[in-house]
Amino acid sequence: MQFGKSVLSPSYSRKPDFDSQDSIKNCYGFRFRLLFQLCCWINKIISGKKAFSFICVNCQKEIGIDYESIIGKEFSWSDDFDEKTNEEIKQFYDMNEGGKTPDGGWTAIDKCLCGRCQTQYLIYAGVDEYLNSTFKVTLQGITEIIEDEQNK
Ligand SMILES: [Zn+2]
Repeated sequence: MQFGKSVLSPSYSRKPDFDSQDSIKNCYGFRFRLLFQLCCWINKIISGKKAFSFICVNCQKEIGIDYESIIGKEFSWSDDFDEKTNEEIKQFYDMNEGGKTPDGGWTAIDKCLCGRCQTQYLIYAGVDEYLNSTFKVTLQGITEIIEDEQNK
């Protein structure tokens, strides 16, 4: 894997971008399940909090990363890449052997695509399940992928 420009690079001082409890808290006023779900749905649309957005380095289009699609990747991301690519990613983001991100979460790696120019990005995030089924997500890296041999 060849890495291009980085939109975001790992930092120890980065604060969580997403807390899954925040979107639940906003819905507590509703007693009924249906209304609860409706509220969550509206909250998702209005607040836009569930996605991190950045500008494509090649075409300046805004790209959104859905936090909830990252949650769960901390268990499986290394299966999405071959061993060599795994090592390249670990080296590129200077990951430690324990699998923890600078923010203290578990390492999660994902990919996303610019809908306009098809540039691929590698996403590096920390996922912290600080309460049962309650997560904090901290974006630590967004990097353009120049060439992807696996083409997955
Ligand atoms: Zn683009």
